[in-house]
Amino acid sequence: MGSHNEQTAELEVWIDQELCTGDGICAQYAPEVFELDIDGLAYVKGPAPAGEEAELRTEPGATAPVPLPLLGDVVDSAKECPGECIHVRRVTDGVEVYGPDAG
Ligand code: SF4
Repeated sequence: MGSHNEQTAELEVWIDQELCTGDGICAQYAPEVFELDIDGLAYVKGPAPAGEEAELRTEPGATAPVPLPLLGDVVDSAKECPGECIHVRRVTDGVEVYGPDAG
């Protein structure tokens, strides 16, 4: 029982804006998850309710869920990010699985 859920761990992503260069690579790779704000830095955003725009989560350390179909795009963003500031971690235990602090 429950083994399926354990195998498909939920992931979340956050950006360290202190290191963001504002190049926008992440927003090109995964525009559903990343967007540049008017300050020129990238932020995560959550899933948009039907017919509405997703709001940027601009609090420091704010996370957004990583939808499984977008995982590849989010991981590519983290790999290509020049600021090395995109962090993808497991929701259950907070362990970083992709990004500069991944083991
Ligand atoms: S790829 Fe990294 S450095 Fe570039 S805008 Fe996105 S978070 Fe910022």
